Amino acid sequence: MAAAPRLEIAAQGAKDPRTLEFLRSSPKKLLINGKWVPARSGKTFESLNPANEEVLAEVAEAGPEDIDEAVKAARKAFEDGPWSRMTPHQRTKLLLKVADLIEQNREQLAELSSLDNGAPIMGAQGLVTSAVELFTYFAGWPTKIFGETNPSAPDMFNYTLREPLGVCGQIIPWNGPLMSASNKLAHALSTGNTVVLKPAEQACLVVLRLGELLLEAGVPEGVVNIVPGFGPVAGAALSNHPDVDKIAFTGSTTTGKEILKASVATLKHVSLELGGKSPHIIFADADMEPALNFAAIGIFGNTGQACIAGSRIFVQEKIHDQFVDGLVQRAKAHKLGAQFEPGVTMGPVVSKVQHQRVLGYIEAGKSEGATALTGGGPGPQPKGYFVQPTVFTQVRNDMKIAREEIFGPVAAVIPFKDENDAVLQGNDTTYGLAAGIWTRDISRAHKVARRLKAGTVWINCYMVLDFTMPFGGYKQSGQGREFSNHAIEMYTQMKSVFVKL
Ligand code: ADP
Repeated sequence: MAAAPRLEIAAQGAKDPRTLEFLRSSPKKLLINGKWVPARSGKTFESLNPANEEVLAEVAEAGPEDIDEAVKAARKAFEDGPWSRMTPHQRTKLLLKVADLIEQNREQLAELSSLDNGAPIMGAQGLVTSAVELFTYFAGWPTKIFGETNPSAPDMFNYTLREPLGVCGQIIPWNGPLMSASNKLAHALSTGNTVVLKPAEQACLVVLRLGELLLEAGVPEGVVNIVPGFGPVAGAALSNHPDVDKIAFTGSTTTGKEILKASVATLKHVSLELGGKSPHIIFADADMEPALNFAAIGIFGNTGQACIAGSRIFVQEKIHDQFVDGLVQRAKAHKLGAQFEPGVTMGPVVSKVQHQRVLGYIEAGKSEGATALTGGGPGPQPKGYFVQPTVFTQVRNDMKIAREEIFGPVAAVIPFKDENDAVLQGNDTTYGLAAGIWTRDISRAHKVARRLKAGTVWINCYMVLDFTMPFGGYKQSGQGREFSNHAIEMYTQMKSVFVKL
């Protein structure tokens, strides 16, 4: 019997025939000025399936010269072209068309996204829904971006115009590639900007497919350019490019600081959505079942690869042991495996580098004296970057596993005495992305929400996102707010016009 072609092994279990069809047309190219082109250098890199380490596709690797071409195309499209002459209504229709095309290609996009980063197919399907909602929500905005008429002297007429920023460089991570790309693009396009988007090298296939859909929807050439490549090369070329007006970045705090530094030379607008070490605080009076379920989702969802992961779980002393038992049970109930295997609830982490990083943190936890009640090592699979869901107790808030973002399925459970202790420990972190509170005492819930230094606070729920609510970080978790009317402000600038009558 002939050996199965490698691609069929790499993408084993994918059901939509268009998934394999897309992967077969390898090497995947860069999208620059409305055309799919190879990298100028001719270089490519391999995109792997993290569940089996097989090659899914070769991808053109953008270098500085490709980034420069892409920025030129975006500049031209911004200054002069059909995009700059489109009416707000036309922009709305275009974004709705993109949302429809995502919906029509739902299964293929979910499969590509799940192959890209290893997430079980159910999770990836949920993020396709988010992508549709993002384009739909932001499609409503072009017709609602207003200036003001200002109080003027009798011989003057003064008003403001809210205008796009220009060329936006957008750099995204790999943990939810379709949603991240859709989020960034919908923000920029609804406000009339043009884009050079650099997806993460670990997970760019679904973003390239989204690029095809944008062209199919009729997004004019040069308005969206997609340039996969490595962070220190392609990402740095984009964040240092003198003709980029804004950089929007989602990723680690360390890289965020590099991007902010690079922005200084030309004073680019910068928005940063960075890491977290979010406190998830469980008071003794919490409704136990949902608190346990959400605490588990908060740290094990997406294999813990979420900036908003509730990675420090603070449990009031009275219920500590009982709560930990419940959390361990939920960790043990996870079935690790490849994307399309029936019953799988947890995929691998995204890459060999991440695998070693996460396992390194687990070892650090053990050597600092924390106890792994369950998990605490790699998964049993012979191939793929699996990590067992791990629950650490005997954790102090000053241990490495409680201070640094692990980005893996590793929960640090820390006891607390009372409300004040919970707030002080919860806030004792350099991060400030999110926080969760479980209590039936409504007044305590609101008091603690006010005291926690985090951009998002969930009370009796966790990881709920709604694009009508602003999202972003306090402290070293970021700058600026995505989603909602605040995102519109972040992607536009105000011009004051004075008219002498
Ligand atoms: P991680 O370490 O989890 O991969 P990063 O913050 O490094 O997170 O990556 C997020 C995104 O930032 C990716 O698209 C990556 O290629 C990009 N990136 C990494 N380093 C740089 C850099 N020095 N300049 C610009 N972009 C970068």
